[in-house]
Amino acid sequence: MDDRTENEPLAPKLDLTEPAQGSDRRAFMMRSALATAIVSLTGRPMAAFADAPAKAPPLDPRLEVVRTSKGPIMTTLEEFYKVGPGPSSSHTIGPMRITYDFYQRCTKLPADQLAQATAFRVNLFGSLSATGKGHGTERAALAGILGKEPATIDPAFLDGLRQKPDQVFSVTLGGKKFNASLKDIIYDKTKGDFPHPNTMTCHLMAGDKVLLEQEYYSVGGGFIEWKGYKPPKKGTPKYPYETMAQLIDYAKKNKLSLAQIAMANEIAVSGKSEADINAFLDKIIAAMRATVKTGLGAPMSVLPGPIKLKTKAHDVYVNAQKQEGTARKAIGLVSAYALAGSEENARGHLVITAPTGGSAGVMPAVVYSLGEGGVKLPEDKIRAGLLVGAMVGYLCKHRATLSAAEGGCQAEIGVASAMSAAMIAQAYDAPPQVAANAAEAALEHHLGMTCDPVAGYVQIPCIERCAFGAVKAWTGYLIATNEIPANHRVDFDSTVAAMAITAKEMNSKYKETSEGGLAVSVVLC
Ligand code: SF4
Repeated sequence: MDDRTENEPLAPKLDLTEPAQGSDRRAFMMRSALATAIVSLTGRPMAAFADAPAKAPPLDPRLEVVRTSKGPIMTTLEEFYKVGPGPSSSHTIGPMRITYDFYQRCTKLPADQLAQATAFRVNLFGSLSATGKGHGTERAALAGILGKEPATIDPAFLDGLRQKPDQVFSVTLGGKKFNASLKDIIYDKTKGDFPHPNTMTCHLMAGDKVLLEQEYYSVGGGFIEWKGYKPPKKGTPKYPYETMAQLIDYAKKNKLSLAQIAMANEIAVSGKSEADINAFLDKIIAAMRATVKTGLGAPMSVLPGPIKLKTKAHDVYVNAQKQEGTARKAIGLVSAYALAGSEENARGHLVITAPTGGSAGVMPAVVYSLGEGGVKLPEDKIRAGLLVGAMVGYLCKHRATLSAAEGGCQAEIGVASAMSAAMIAQAYDAPPQVAANAAEAALEHHLGMTCDPVAGYVQIPCIERCAFGAVKAWTGYLIATNEIPANHRVDFDSTVAAMAITAKEMNSKYKETSEGGLAVSVVLC
């Protein structure tokens, strides 16, 4: 428990003229020399040396992550694992979920009303209108209104729309057929008194007459709401917890695995049956496999954006298969799977938030390596692993953050790696303490990792970083399963606390602003 006051620094102010006590003088001198060289070569200061660390502003108490950070964890799988087209959960996944929801509502209208339908009309307002074009919002919105679900859409459909935007599609509602195209998605007012910056309205038209109308909001992270929205009621968790220590305690006392605890809580909180929860997990696993397979199969190409980054998953995959030596081959393949998933996100194809879009290559790579791309474990083991991985993610969200804007890359790739390490342990039926130790090790060795995407695109360092996150997950598991569990010195909860403290103290330049690190040192030609 941190009992310092708000204004009391957690660490002494850095003196950049002398090495700190106990630090490595040689490293300090090398960093100083590097900083001097950068200033002489580029005429601008190295970001880390430019000035003293900026104090990160305190979190706004109105933030959901702050308001829900007390009491037992209530997050559900469907809130956590979301599938949809990249690159933005609020500007692509959210709008597509909205139009898909509207399409579903339309299908439930009485037959006599559907018989009059002639067109859809979708109006985008505020930020959706201002920046939607760069995020492919209109393509995502059209796909949803055509009845395509974000989780299962074929990415080729969105690519085809980008290449041939004039395509016209036939929609069947009840017995009625009419046409739909990108012309039905309207970039409307960017400024106004909207209930939310990401507001949109959907209409089903009969000529000039409106048959059905609904106002929606894409409220971030792929979550959606609508006018009159009432949040679903949640049940009380069977095993209320806020720490990994509590989970281990429940497991010991009740002789349960972490996966059994996760399933019992999910049933209690969401009100769903075990069969429905398993069906959802299967959907997520299938989507993760699809992103890896599509990414591996895509020949080398140039990713969208100013970096003109060439993809490498396909080449790494082909060459890793020929690699001699089991360990080298395995590491090469896991890396290729992660590169594949992450490159798919960069292409604007399917992304699974586990926990975020930037880290979208990590868990899919591990899922693929546990199944057909590797050790071929039975499906129920992988499902159980995904449940435990989610619980690790919930704990990080609850006690620290999943947002790079708050905590840097440790909160994205670090958490994804920890979730994946616990998933591997559970999939191999390792005891709860081993799963906790594996997650701890994977997270510990990402602590302090900054977020510095070059040109603001989720490509450098993000794509390769996913590969390192996936390999570290396997390393975390392999150390945890081969050591004596009781000898593991650092506990998971302490490492999450360290991530929270590091997030708080991290210079704001390294929190998804593209103002520091690689974003500054890499020069785009
Ligand atoms: S560098 Fe930033 S954008 Fe890239 S994966 Fe890490 S947290 Fe996400």
